[in-house]
Amino acid sequence: MNDLQPILLPGTGTRRPAVIAGPCSAETEEQVLATARQLAAEGIRVLRAGLWKPRTKPGGFEGVGTKGIAWLQRAKRETGLFIATEVATPAHVEAALAGGIDLLWIGARTTANPFAVQEIADALRGRDIPVLVKNPVSPDLELWIGAVERIRNTGIRRLGVIHRGFASIDKSIYRNHPMWAIPIELRRRHPQLPVYCDPSHIGGKRELIAPLAQQAMDLGFDGLIVETHCSPDEAWSDKAQQITPAALAGMLRNLVIRETSGATENLNELRAKIDKLDDRLVELLAERMDVSREIGRCKREHAMPVLQARRYEELLARRTAQAAELGMDREFMRGILQLIHEESVRQQIELPEKE
Ligand code: PEP
Ligand code: MN
Repeated sequence: MNDLQPILLPGTGTRRPAVIAGPCSAETEEQVLATARQLAAEGIRVLRAGLWKPRTKPGGFEGVGTKGIAWLQRAKRETGLFIATEVATPAHVEAALAGGIDLLWIGARTTANPFAVQEIADALRGRDIPVLVKNPVSPDLELWIGAVERIRNTGIRRLGVIHRGFASIDKSIYRNHPMWAIPIELRRRHPQLPVYCDPSHIGGKRELIAPLAQQAMDLGFDGLIVETHCSPDEAWSDKAQQITPAALAGMLRNLVIRETSGATENLNELRAKIDKLDDRLVELLAERMDVSREIGRCKREHAMPVLQARRYEELLARRTAQAAELGMDREFMRGILQLIHEESVRQQIELPEKE
C-alpha cells in the first residue's frame, strides 16, 4: 500500500488534526445548514452527515436517504465545506458519486463484512474519491486491513482509516473500547495510511470526547471525525455523544499538539552525531592503549618502573585545567583520567603474560 497519497482532501493539508465534523445523521435541511454554517464559522473544512444509518433494530430512524444529498450540496454551495457521508451498498456509492459527495467512509458494521466491502469496492472501481475505512466492530486488525486492501485494489489511492473503538463484553466507561494497540499496530504496518480517531463513537458521551481526542493526538493520529450538531440534545440519533460546533472549536483550541515527528528527526540526528563521536572516542582509547603497551615494552627494556608518579601528576593537572577551559567539570575529567591511567598501567604490567 505504498502508493497511497498522504493528503486526503484538498485544503486539509498535513497539519494535525485534520478535522471532519457534522451530525451523526442528516435530519432536516435546516439542521444540516445550521450545523454547516456554524462549523464553517469555526474554521472547519469538512462536513460529515449520515444519510443511510445502520441501526441495530428495525423501526428506528434509518436516515433520510438520497434526498439528503441535496441538503449537503446546498451546505457545500453556501459554506464551501467539503461533504462526506457513509456508504454501505453499491447503490449508496452511485448516489453519493452522482451527488458530488467529496469523501466517503465505510461504517464499522460494513467493514465487518467482506462481501459488502467487496461490493462497495467494485462500485468504486475506476473512480477517484477519498475513502476512509472504519474499523470493524470486533477487534480484528486483519479484517480492517483486508477491507482497506479491497478498496485499494480497485485503484482508489486517497485512502485512510477511522478508529472508532471496538465492541467488548467488558464493562467500561466507553461505548466502544479504544484498544489503542490495534490502530497503533495498523500504523506500524501501514505508516502511510492517515488515521482518524472518532472519539464520539468510542466515548459515547460528550465528556469523553476531549480526553479521547487528546489521547489520539498524543499517539500521533492524523485527524479527528467528531459528531457535531446544532442542537445536540434534539438529535435523532446518537444524541449523548454529539457536541455543538462551538464546543468542538473550544475542544480543538485546547488540544495540545506535540509535533513528535520533528522532535524525533532532530533527536535521531543528534544521536547519530553522538554515535560518531563515541566511535572516535573508542578508537582513540584503543590507540592510546597501543601506545601504553609500547611504553611498557620500552620501560622494560630500560629497566624503568612502570609507575612514574610525577609524570602522572603533571598529566592530571594539565588535562583537568584544559577540561575546565573547555567548559567541562574538573572532577569529571579527573575521574576519566584516573580510569584511563589505571588501565594503561595494567596494560603495561600485564604485557609480559599476554605475549
Ligand atoms: C457513524 O459514524 O455515525 C456511524 C454509524 O459510525 P460507526 O460505523 O462507527 O458505528
Ligand atoms: Mn453516530
